[in-house]
Amino acid sequence: MEMKDKIATVFAEKFGKPAGTFYASAGRINLIGEHTDYNEGYVFPGAIDKVIMAEIRPNGTDKVRVFSIDIDEYAEFGLEEKDAPSQSWARYIFGICREIIKRGGTVKGFDTVFAGNVPLGAGLSSSAALESCFAFGLNDMFNDNKIDKFELAKIGQSTEHNYCGVNCGIMDQFASVFGKKDHLIRLDCRDLSYEYFPFAPKGHKLVLIDSRVKHELKDSPYNKRRESCERVAKALGVKSLRDVSLAELNAARIGFSDEDYRRAKYVIEEKDRVLTVCAALERGDYDEVGKMMYETHEGLSKDYEVSCEELDFLANLAKECGVTGSRIMGGGFGGCTINLVPDSLHDGFIATAKEKFNAKYGHEPMVYDVIISDGARRLED
Ligand code: ADP
Ligand code: MG
Repeated sequence: MEMKDKIATVFAEKFGKPAGTFYASAGRINLIGEHTDYNEGYVFPGAIDKVIMAEIRPNGTDKVRVFSIDIDEYAEFGLEEKDAPSQSWARYIFGICREIIKRGGTVKGFDTVFAGNVPLGAGLSSSAALESCFAFGLNDMFNDNKIDKFELAKIGQSTEHNYCGVNCGIMDQFASVFGKKDHLIRLDCRDLSYEYFPFAPKGHKLVLIDSRVKHELKDSPYNKRRESCERVAKALGVKSLRDVSLAELNAARIGFSDEDYRRAKYVIEEKDRVLTVCAALERGDYDEVGKMMYETHEGLSKDYEVSCEELDFLANLAKECGVTGSRIMGGGFGGCTINLVPDSLHDGFIATAKEKFNAKYGHEPMVYDVIISDGARRLED
């Protein structure tokens, strides 16, 4: 059964008639621009055709009653701070309600049933899809859409910070809310300005290969990378690496170590690669896009040193198979690669990746085809 029909059936069972209103929001990918956010560089995400969908109907009380189809659990909570539910999945929805109320918006009691097909914890940001779906829906239902889209993204981000214990940036929620079919969005992490670029790679598919490994490292490598970047920026007398060119970095190799140099070099090159990819997309030059993806992988692996054996294996295999572009997506040390794959190679590449990865690491990776699609929206029938 289609997701919407299933939700409608379960909603009618749990809460009766009349039907509510349907909303959806999407998971996301980031084509290029990794470890750039905290250096005031660019990220380049887009929403995908994997969504969280909810049917919502005001219930005239001050209680929220919610059923999760995928988890097969029911939760009920009030709208005051003390009413936080215990189930972690319900805290996302509670958090959205609270963050809207804290900003002076309105949320009243409602009944809802929701489901999704964004894989959980695979790097496609199912949590942002969930947050954006409800932020958008409750804005439409109770606030005449008066809360602007950026604030909806921030409401999702604050929910992660304040109710889910995840200290995330803004990219995931931004992409989920602002996503547009056949477009990626270049977000400038310095001032949060953004621009849409066409992304409709005819003859190619975007494929995520999830290694299903996550290496937990002892000494927080994320903080160490940040510190390296900050040390170099400080030595060069700038606020962030955004303000440094490669020539300037090379001309001033004092006050920081060789290791810090390589970290900074990666960040500066990555900032430039995002711009190169944007220009290539405007020409429809997907070979150039792919080349930049491989360069990012190389930089993340050799200079930034946040890859791991399994991800290097997957990116190398992509290259051997003739895939247009492949790189780590996300922070590194596990997770997935994002691949730009010619249609003619698609099935063979996936079969090879599954087989060879399994032979070497003892389990198959998960594979997801994604299409760049709309973000948060109301579904009209
Ligand atoms: P991701 O990288 O996919 O965002 P997170 O750990 O941040 O992974 O978020 C996953 C959490 O979001 C789940 O543990 C669950 O609480 C909630 N979630 C995501 N998708 C669903 C769903 N379809 N149904 C219920 N809860 C969901
Ligand atoms: Mg998440």
